[in-house]
Amino acid sequence: MAKSCIIIGGGIAGITAALSLSQIGISCTIYELRATPATIGGAVNLTPNALRLLESLDVELYGCRVDSIEIFSLHTGKKLGELPFRKFGPALRILREELLRALLRALSRKGVVVSYGYKLVAMKDESFEKEVTAVFENGEEIKADFVLGCDGVHSAVRSKYVDPERLPIYTNVAVAYTVVEDYGTKPHFHHTSMNSGRFGSLLTSYVDPDRTKVYLGAVMEVREQNDRQGWKVRGSDRQKTLDEIKRRYRNTAILCVNQLVQRADDFVFYPVYTLRAGGRWSRGRVLLLGDAAHCMPPQGESTRLAIEDGILFARVFETCVEVSVEEALQVYEKTRRPRIDAAYKEAVSRWESVKDKSWLMQKIIEWLMWVILWYKMSHFETSISYDVRKEVLRS
Ligand SMILES: Cc1cc2nc3c(=O)[nH]c(=O)nc-3n(C[C@H](O)[C@H](O)[C@H](O)COP(=O)(O)OP(=O)(O)OC[C@H]3O[C@@H](n4cnc5c(N)ncnc54)[C@H](O)[C@@H]3O)c2cc1C
Repeated sequence: MAKSCIIIGGGIAGITAALSLSQIGISCTIYELRATPATIGGAVNLTPNALRLLESLDVELYGCRVDSIEIFSLHTGKKLGELPFRKFGPALRILREELLRALLRALSRKGVVVSYGYKLVAMKDESFEKEVTAVFENGEEIKADFVLGCDGVHSAVRSKYVDPERLPIYTNVAVAYTVVEDYGTKPHFHHTSMNSGRFGSLLTSYVDPDRTKVYLGAVMEVREQNDRQGWKVRGSDRQKTLDEIKRRYRNTAILCVNQLVQRADDFVFYPVYTLRAGGRWSRGRVLLLGDAAHCMPPQGESTRLAIEDGILFARVFETCVEVSVEEALQVYEKTRRPRIDAAYKEAVSRWESVKDKSWLMQKIIEWLMWVILWYKMSHFETSISYDVRKEVLRS
């Protein structure tokens, strides 16, 4: 059975895959494009089942415990409902940077190396039968029994090798976020809240156990820029983002939101991309995991899906000892598809509600919120109670 693995991308999917594989004795090295671990990234939500998975990988986390996501109207200030986690154990709101640090600590305890400053530019398959070669921008070529492409929505492993036709699609929506330390008035929420309005949604949440910091994440429609350079310019125009947020959220019916927006002085801005559903995940001895395989509109579950991918993959590899690497990748894909397809459908249906809407449409959504939540509850509960470690493998 194969023993050596190269992982491209040192994000959440790459590190969890490395932790899971090292638990079953497969040696891996991670190659990451950035020179150091990323210090940007907003607050991600770790659902109770994601926390259990991370615990099984010995990852110790530092964030804010969340019992439910409360939903408020920015227009009336009223609470419209909530999505409770309690029945399944609390969730955790944590800065992506903090999660990455915790994963890296666990990785270093296991002795797995991350090589920074390695940009994958090509894959070679002359020795398709036995091993595969990753080619990096610095000229180095590294061989392994198999490669995991965990390099995010703009994946080079996908575009250069596995499925070049499947390009990232801009959603017409961007996210701007910041963390406010001196937040003034006691917030209107207990742990985390989604505040819904005509001009996008605003996530407000504590992100540390002592509740000294409030995270503010605004989801808003933004026209597509012509190219990467255009996005760079748009992203670095911080004043424009600040003005836009203030225009959208200054005079809401929630005092705390108004104050948070006033006190925020800098926002990080990024455009949201997705991949179309389906697509190819593997070719020969190369498999895509996380956003590289199935980036979907943000729905608070992308991080968990990325964690589940690595854990399931290691399980398949541990179980399918009698088969070739290619066959093991097929077992993984068949087992994983139904779950990802269902999550994708749900993400797309939720995503429409964050776009700008008329006054009447916003009112209708607010009136019907309890029905919407009731309808969504069964999917929500299934999704936060699901345990990928118990998934029946399909061959
Ligand atoms: C800097 C950053 C900030 C983010 N902030 C948020 C956020 O605020 N909210 C949110 O919901 N999601 C955010 N995300 C996305 C979120 O992390 C993912 O949706 C989810 O966790 C799935 O993780 P992933 O590991 O599949 O992909 P990612 O987290 O995107 O990780 C991919 C990794 O691959 C590396 N990489 C890319 N191309 C190459 C290459 N050619 N060679 C080598 N390495 C490469 C990247 O540098 C990155 O470290 C962010 C991602 C990044 C990279």
